[in-house]
Amino acid sequence: TRSTRPQRLLRAVQKKAIKGDPQSVISTIDYFCRHSEWAMNVGDEKGAILDSVVCEVSPSTALELGTYCGYSTVRIARLLPPGTKLITLEFNPDYAAVARQIIEYSGLQDKICLVEGASGDLIPKMQELFGIKTFDFVFLDHWKDRYLPDIKLLEECQLLRKGSILLADNVICPGTPDYLEYVRNSPRT
Ligand code: SAM
Ligand code: MG
Repeated sequence: TRSTRPQRLLRAVQKKAIKGDPQSVISTIDYFCRHSEWAMNVGDEKGAILDSVVCEVSPSTALELGTYCGYSTVRIARLLPPGTKLITLEFNPDYAAVARQIIEYSGLQDKICLVEGASGDLIPKMQELFGIKTFDFVFLDHWKDRYLPDIKLLEECQLLRKGSILLADNVICPGTPDYLEYVRNSPRT
């Protein structure tokens, strides 16, 4: 059978990137997406914004919703202070399998916990699974109709504190009006 796009992306990384070099993994994926096939990772331009936010926040606890092939996961994890782990959630087992290999290839596996499952099921387990009290930083990049329910769930589970930084991709295009209205009007942000 024909390979999938994530598998082709993984093959490009294994063929062209330097093992143990996160920057080279990122550049290889950017090159693949520019010249071979579009893929739904955050990409280089928005990736630079993500980088600057991660550096500024320098989080001790970080959560990513939507791993896909692990591009943004590697991007975030390479900038985390020593001792910080990034928890990333992905419910598609095929994507998770590819992401695991890309993370390993980048050499950042000790900084990343990839958990396979749906955000709605896993968010309530963060305390129990990882002893997380609150997240300093959350990157939302999963399905857009989950942004609002998952932010509410994070609040319900008391996983956000005053000053937690939420960064959300695709809030303008394709758009998440309910999420934007909620965070803009929340007294907590
Ligand atoms: N953050 C990735 C990057 O920039 O490299 C791209 C993520 S892609 C846009 C969205 C991913 O979220 C898909 O792989 C999808 O399977 C996953 N996803 C969507 N809804 C989810 C949910 N409720 N829980 C876990 N994963 C979810
Ligand atoms: Mg996105």
